[in-house]
Amino acid sequence: MKRTAFYPGSFDPLTNGHLDILLQALGLADEVIVAIGVHSSKPGLFTYDERKALIEKVLPEALRDRVSVVSFDNLTTDAAAAAGAGMMIRGLRDGSDLDYEMQLAGMNSALAEDIQTVFLPASAETRPITATLVRQVALMGGDASLFVPEAVAEALKIKLSEKS
Ligand code: ADP
Repeated sequence: MKRTAFYPGSFDPLTNGHLDILLQALGLADEVIVAIGVHSSKPGLFTYDERKALIEKVLPEALRDRVSVVSFDNLTTDAAAAAGAGMMIRGLRDGSDLDYEMQLAGMNSALAEDIQTVFLPASAETRPITATLVRQVALMGGDASLFVPEAVAEALKIKLSEKS
């Protein structure tokens, strides 16, 4: 049976940390669904279409047919169940991620007992990266290419020039 994993997040934009977890998840599952949570009250920096296009651009060619990118605006467990996923992937950076993620995993398992949360540890090099700080660094003219794939760094520069 095909093992399908659901990897939810904002991905605004995709960072080297997200990519690290996505690649690790592909070692466990046959197919990973990257699910971008969209909320009309929180538009974010990049639109859903831009976030999706960046993820697809950055994926190594050989893995592209095992990854799909979708949006969702409902309960994460409902979206994962509707996609036929048996695993929910979450990345862990530190103890504060762990505290929050344990609460989320506990509630999610009560909401959808057939979906198993799988925690994957951040790699040492990507552990400090958060998309929020990446956006702040880029918007203040810092070099985001230390933390995100090249195509994302380029897209951040373009966003910055559009905003100024
Ligand atoms: P962020 O917290 O950077 O804004 P998201 O809300 O999009 O990112 O997070 C989606 C998932 O990716 C979460 O499980 C989060 O813990 C994980 N994640 C984000 N950044 C990293 C990182 N640097 N290393 C490992 N996992 C990460």
